[in-house]
Amino acid sequence: MKRSRLLLLPASTVENAAAQQYAQLMRAAAQKNALNVDKAQLERLRNIARALIPHSTRFNPEAQKWRWEVNLINSKQVNAFCMPGGKIAFFTGILEQLNLTDDEVAVIMGHEIGHALLEHGRARMSEQVLKSVGISIAAAVFNLGQISAEILAQAANLAVSLPYARSQETDSDLVGMELAARAGFDPRAAVVVWQKMQKLGQQPADGAKAPGGRSQPPQFLSTHPSHETRIRDMQAAMPKVLPLYESAKKR
Ligand SMILES: [Zn+2]
Repeated sequence: MKRSRLLLLPASTVENAAAQQYAQLMRAAAQKNALNVDKAQLERLRNIARALIPHSTRFNPEAQKWRWEVNLINSKQVNAFCMPGGKIAFFTGILEQLNLTDDEVAVIMGHEIGHALLEHGRARMSEQVLKSVGISIAAAVFNLGQISAEILAQAANLAVSLPYARSQETDSDLVGMELAARAGFDPRAAVVVWQKMQKLGQQPADGAKAPGGRSQPPQFLSTHPSHETRIRDMQAAMPKVLPLYESAKKR
Protein backbone atom coordinates (compact mmCIF):
# COMPACT_ATOMS: atom_id res chain seq x y z
CA MET A 1 0.00 0.00 0.00
CA LYS A 2 1.24 3.42 -0.91
CA ARG A 3 0.95 6.75 0.75
CA SER A 4 -1.01 9.39 -1.08
CA ARG A 5 0.67 11.34 -3.83
CA LEU A 6 -0.42 14.92 -3.61
CA LEU A 7 1.37 16.03 -0.46
CA LEU A 8 1.88 19.65 -1.29
CA LEU A 9 1.44 20.84 2.27
CA PRO A 10 4.27 19.96 4.65
CA ALA A 11 3.27 17.42 7.30
CA SER A 12 3.99 19.95 10.05
CA THR A 13 1.61 22.51 8.52
CA VAL A 14 -1.13 19.91 8.23
CA GLU A 15 -0.60 18.63 11.78
CA ASN A 16 -0.66 22.14 13.23
CA ALA A 17 -3.86 23.03 11.39
CA ALA A 18 -5.46 19.74 12.44
CA ALA A 19 -4.39 20.22 16.07
CA GLN A 20 -5.98 23.67 16.09
CA GLN A 21 -9.21 22.39 14.56
CA TYR A 22 -9.26 19.52 17.00
CA ALA A 23 -8.72 21.81 19.98
CA GLN A 24 -11.53 24.04 18.76
CA LEU A 25 -13.89 21.07 18.41
CA MET A 26 -13.03 19.89 21.92
CA ARG A 27 -13.56 23.38 23.34
CA ALA A 28 -16.96 23.56 21.65
CA ALA A 29 -17.89 20.16 23.10
CA ALA A 30 -16.68 21.19 26.56
CA GLN A 31 -18.83 24.32 26.43
CA LYS A 32 -21.87 22.12 25.84
CA ASN A 33 -20.81 19.82 28.68
CA ALA A 34 -20.37 17.10 26.09
CA LEU A 35 -16.66 16.37 26.49
CA ASN A 36 -15.47 13.22 28.25
CA VAL A 37 -18.61 12.95 30.36
CA ASP A 38 -18.50 9.17 30.60
CA LYS A 39 -15.21 8.55 32.40
CA ALA A 40 -15.42 4.76 32.14
CA GLN A 41 -15.87 4.83 28.36
CA LEU A 42 -13.12 7.44 28.03
CA GLU A 43 -10.72 5.27 30.01
CA ARG A 44 -11.63 2.31 27.85
CA LEU A 45 -10.92 4.28 24.65
CA ARG A 46 -7.61 5.55 25.99
CA ASN A 47 -6.52 2.07 27.05
CA ILE A 48 -7.27 0.72 23.59
CA ALA A 49 -5.37 3.64 22.00
CA ARG A 50 -2.39 2.98 24.28
CA ALA A 51 -2.30 -0.61 23.04
CA LEU A 52 -2.54 0.32 19.33
CA ILE A 53 -0.23 3.34 19.16
CA PRO A 54 3.14 1.58 19.75
CA HIS A 55 2.53 -0.40 16.53
CA SER A 56 1.77 2.64 14.39
CA THR A 57 5.40 3.44 13.50
CA ARG A 58 5.41 0.36 11.26
CA PHE A 59 3.25 2.32 8.87
CA ASN A 60 4.69 5.78 9.40
CA PRO A 61 7.89 6.34 11.43
CA GLU A 62 6.91 10.00 11.97
CA ALA A 63 4.09 8.82 14.22
CA GLN A 64 6.63 8.43 17.00
CA LYS A 65 6.72 12.22 17.29
CA TRP A 66 2.95 12.70 17.23
CA ARG A 67 1.19 14.16 20.21
CA TRP A 68 -1.65 11.67 20.39
CA GLU A 69 -4.95 12.61 21.98
CA VAL A 70 -8.12 10.61 22.57
CA ASN A 71 -11.40 12.24 23.55
CA LEU A 72 -15.03 11.20 23.76
CA ILE A 73 -17.79 13.52 22.57
CA ASN A 74 -21.27 13.09 23.93
CA SER A 75 -23.38 13.05 20.77
CA LYS A 76 -25.81 10.73 19.03
CA GLN A 77 -23.69 10.92 15.89
CA VAL A 78 -22.41 7.54 14.80
CA ASN A 79 -18.91 8.76 14.12
CA ALA A 80 -15.21 8.55 14.95
CA PHE A 81 -12.09 10.05 13.41
CA CYS A 82 -8.35 10.48 13.72
CA MET A 83 -7.03 13.77 12.40
CA PRO A 84 -3.50 14.11 11.01
CA GLY A 85 -0.96 13.96 13.83
CA GLY A 86 -2.95 11.49 15.95
CA LYS A 87 -5.93 13.50 17.19
CA ILE A 88 -8.61 10.89 17.86
CA ALA A 89 -12.27 11.45 18.71
CA PHE A 90 -15.09 9.00 19.27
CA PHE A 91 -18.75 9.96 19.57
CA THR A 92 -20.88 8.21 22.17
CA GLY A 93 -23.35 7.45 19.35
CA ILE A 94 -21.00 4.97 17.68
CA LEU A 95 -20.26 3.16 20.95
CA GLU A 96 -23.92 2.95 21.94
CA GLN A 97 -25.76 2.41 18.67
CA LEU A 98 -23.35 -0.26 17.49
CA ASN A 99 -22.90 -1.62 21.02
CA LEU A 100 -19.17 -1.97 20.36
CA THR A 101 -16.93 -4.52 22.04
CA ASP A 102 -13.27 -3.68 22.77
CA ASP A 103 -12.20 -5.63 19.67
CA GLU A 104 -14.65 -3.63 17.56
CA VAL A 105 -13.51 -0.29 19.03
CA ALA A 106 -9.91 -1.34 18.30
CA VAL A 107 -10.53 -2.04 14.61
CA ILE A 108 -12.48 1.21 14.13
CA MET A 109 -9.83 3.22 15.95
CA GLY A 110 -7.12 1.35 14.03
CA HIS A 111 -8.87 2.14 10.75
CA GLU A 112 -9.07 5.85 11.58
CA ILE A 113 -5.44 5.86 12.74
CA GLY A 114 -4.67 4.19 9.41
CA HIS A 115 -6.00 7.19 7.48
CA ALA A 116 -3.69 9.44 9.52
CA LEU A 117 -0.64 7.17 9.19
CA LEU A 118 -1.09 6.85 5.44
CA GLU A 119 -1.54 10.63 5.27
CA HIS A 120 -4.89 10.51 3.51
CA GLY A 121 -5.93 13.64 5.40
CA ARG A 122 -2.76 15.43 4.42
CA ALA A 123 -3.38 14.65 0.76
CA ARG A 124 -6.95 15.85 0.99
CA MET A 125 -6.03 19.01 2.83
CA SER A 126 -3.47 19.71 0.14
CA GLU A 127 -6.15 19.30 -2.52
CA GLN A 128 -8.57 21.50 -0.60
CA VAL A 129 -6.03 24.26 -0.14
CA LEU A 130 -5.26 24.20 -3.85
CA LYS A 131 -8.95 24.50 -4.62
CA SER A 132 -9.50 27.25 -2.06
CA VAL A 133 -6.66 29.44 -3.13
CA GLY A 134 -7.31 28.72 -6.78
CA ILE A 135 -3.72 28.90 -7.87
CA SER A 136 -1.34 26.58 -9.65
CA ILE A 137 0.63 23.98 -7.75
CA ALA A 138 3.86 25.76 -8.62
CA ALA A 139 2.62 29.05 -7.22
CA ALA A 140 1.35 27.32 -4.12
CA VAL A 141 4.66 25.62 -3.50
CA PHE A 142 6.43 28.95 -3.47
CA ASN A 143 3.80 30.80 -1.48
CA LEU A 144 2.86 28.36 1.24
CA GLY A 145 3.52 31.00 3.85
CA GLN A 146 0.68 33.07 2.44
CA ILE A 147 -2.05 30.50 2.85
CA SER A 148 -4.30 31.93 5.50
CA ALA A 149 -5.01 30.15 8.74
CA GLU A 150 -8.67 30.29 7.77
CA ILE A 151 -8.15 28.32 4.57
CA LEU A 152 -6.07 25.76 6.43
CA ALA A 153 -8.73 25.43 9.11
CA GLN A 154 -11.39 24.91 6.46
CA ALA A 155 -9.26 22.30 4.75
CA ALA A 156 -8.66 20.51 8.04
CA ASN A 157 -12.39 20.39 8.64
CA LEU A 158 -13.12 19.01 5.20
CA ALA A 159 -10.37 16.46 5.71
CA VAL A 160 -12.57 14.59 8.19
CA SER A 161 -15.99 15.31 6.69
CA LEU A 162 -15.60 14.14 3.08
CA PRO A 163 -15.50 10.52 1.93
CA TYR A 164 -12.12 8.98 1.24
CA ALA A 165 -11.32 7.13 -1.97
CA ARG A 166 -12.15 3.44 -2.08
CA SER A 167 -8.49 2.45 -2.26
CA GLN A 168 -7.78 4.59 0.80
CA GLU A 169 -10.58 2.83 2.68
CA THR A 170 -9.19 -0.56 1.76
CA ASP A 171 -5.69 0.43 2.83
CA SER A 172 -6.95 1.83 6.14
CA ASP A 173 -9.00 -1.30 6.77
CA LEU A 174 -5.83 -3.37 6.44
CA VAL A 175 -3.82 -1.06 8.68
CA GLY A 176 -6.61 -1.06 11.26
CA MET A 177 -6.84 -4.84 11.34
CA GLU A 178 -3.08 -5.22 11.62
CA LEU A 179 -2.76 -2.63 14.40
CA ALA A 180 -5.59 -4.32 16.29
CA ALA A 181 -4.12 -7.80 15.80
CA ARG A 182 -0.65 -6.78 16.92
CA ALA A 183 -2.16 -5.15 20.01
CA GLY A 184 -4.00 -8.36 20.89
CA PHE A 185 -7.48 -7.47 19.59
CA ASP A 186 -9.38 -9.89 17.36
CA PRO A 187 -9.16 -8.51 13.79
CA ARG A 188 -12.25 -10.52 12.81
CA ALA A 189 -14.19 -7.80 14.63
CA ALA A 190 -13.68 -5.61 11.53
CA VAL A 191 -16.14 -7.72 9.57
CA VAL A 192 -18.67 -7.60 12.42
CA VAL A 193 -18.37 -3.80 12.63
CA TRP A 194 -19.22 -3.38 8.95
CA GLN A 195 -22.10 -5.80 9.18
CA LYS A 196 -23.47 -3.82 12.13
CA MET A 197 -22.87 -0.56 10.28
CA GLN A 198 -24.65 -1.81 7.18
CA LYS A 199 -27.63 -2.91 9.25
CA LEU A 200 -27.82 0.47 10.97
CA GLY A 201 -27.57 2.25 7.61
CA GLN A 202 -30.44 0.20 6.22
CA GLN A 203 -32.83 1.26 8.96
CA PRO A 204 -35.25 3.80 7.51
CA ALA A 205 -34.48 7.37 8.53
CA ASP A 206 -37.72 7.82 10.37
CA GLY A 207 -38.64 11.26 11.66
CA ALA A 208 -41.64 9.79 13.50
CA LYS A 209 -39.39 7.91 15.89
CA ALA A 210 -39.66 8.32 19.63
CA PRO A 211 -37.82 11.39 20.93
CA GLY A 212 -34.15 10.57 21.26
CA GLY A 213 -34.38 7.96 18.52
CA ARG A 214 -32.01 8.16 15.61
CA SER A 215 -33.50 10.11 12.73
CA GLN A 216 -30.46 10.39 10.48
CA PRO A 217 -28.34 7.78 8.73
CA PRO A 218 -25.04 7.24 10.56
CA GLN A 219 -22.54 9.94 9.64
CA PHE A 220 -19.79 7.33 9.65
CA LEU A 221 -21.44 5.72 6.63
CA SER A 222 -21.41 8.94 4.62
CA THR A 223 -17.63 9.15 4.93
CA HIS A 224 -17.08 5.38 4.96
CA PRO A 225 -19.41 3.79 2.42
CA SER A 226 -19.86 0.11 3.10
CA HIS A 227 -19.60 -2.36 0.30
CA GLU A 228 -19.70 -6.09 -0.01
CA THR A 229 -16.23 -5.96 -1.53
CA ARG A 230 -15.00 -4.23 1.61
CA ILE A 231 -16.00 -7.18 3.76
CA ARG A 232 -14.57 -9.57 1.17
CA ASP A 233 -11.22 -7.72 1.21
CA MET A 234 -11.19 -7.90 5.00
CA GLN A 235 -11.83 -11.60 4.96
CA ALA A 236 -9.08 -12.05 2.39
CA ALA A 237 -6.64 -10.33 4.78
CA MET A 238 -7.39 -12.66 7.71
CA PRO A 239 -4.68 -15.23 6.92
CA LYS A 240 -2.17 -12.40 7.30
CA VAL A 241 -3.54 -10.75 10.45
CA LEU A 242 -4.90 -13.71 12.44
CA PRO A 243 -1.43 -15.16 13.16
CA LEU A 244 -0.37 -11.72 14.46
CA TYR A 245 -3.36 -11.78 16.81
CA GLU A 246 -2.62 -15.35 17.94
CA SER A 247 0.98 -14.49 18.82
CA ALA A 248 0.03 -11.20 20.52
CA LYS A 249 -2.41 -13.12 22.73
CA LYS A 250 0.36 -15.41 23.93
CA ARG A 251 2.44 -12.52 25.23
ZN1 LIG B 1 -12.08 5.27 6.50
